[in-house]
Amino acid sequence: MKIAIISDIHSNLEAMEAVAEELVNLSVDEVYFAGDAVGYGADPDPCTHWVAENADLAVAGNHDFAAVGIIESDSFNLYAREAIRWNAEHLGEEEARYLSDLPLTETRNGITIVHANPSLPEEWGYIFTLWDAEMNFPYFEGEFCFVGHSHQPVVVRMDSDGAVSIVPGDSLHLEEDSRYLINVGSVGQPRDGNPAACFGLIDMEKSEFSLIRVTYDVGKTHEKMSELGLPQPLADRLLEGK
Ligand code: ZN
Repeated sequence: MKIAIISDIHSNLEAMEAVAEELVNLSVDEVYFAGDAVGYGADPDPCTHWVAENADLAVAGNHDFAAVGIIESDSFNLYAREAIRWNAEHLGEEEARYLSDLPLTETRNGITIVHANPSLPEEWGYIFTLWDAEMNFPYFEGEFCFVGHSHQPVVVRMDSDGAVSIVPGDSLHLEEDSRYLINVGSVGQPRDGNPAACFGLIDMEKSEFSLIRVTYDVGKTHEKMSELGLPQPLADRLLEGK
């Protein structure tokens, strides 16, 4: 079975459509969504609709809950807050209800998904350091926990002796007696210096995990956001992936 884990679409329809096409090419069996369908970008409605139609498992991100008024956007920076207001105004009733009903964590097939971190998902704290990652291993069951939120892909492995390390590279063989905490990066707003959309893929039969990059028409997204009057820095950062 092949499972794709996607996160942080952020209303970027062009990136999402390119990823959707790649999911078909890869013959993915299931799609798990780790939150933030909306925020920042220009297409909250179609992006939420796609998640609702295609995700076999889905959790809420902080931007999803902010757009539907479940949490305040006070902690967001000025541009993010402005974009959340715009996104909220352009979200259909059905799509808003879908986002409101999303849980904070889900587990299936030994895989936990949560937007920010498994220890305190409702506080939206980032996992930035190896120490942050290590602290979170006791808070999920099973072999895998997938997160988003920072938009920076990284694979952290805990060996059977409890040693924690970052696994370099874009693909790896999954060790049977190890556990993994993996950030799958962002579909719609990558921040690791690579503007291509990013998601994760587990091949259960081959015991392999890969981070997949998909190029899309960033220029078109940039132009659309600029024309609609969304904050310019949010459009500009897409060109460089940061
Ligand atoms: Zn995000």
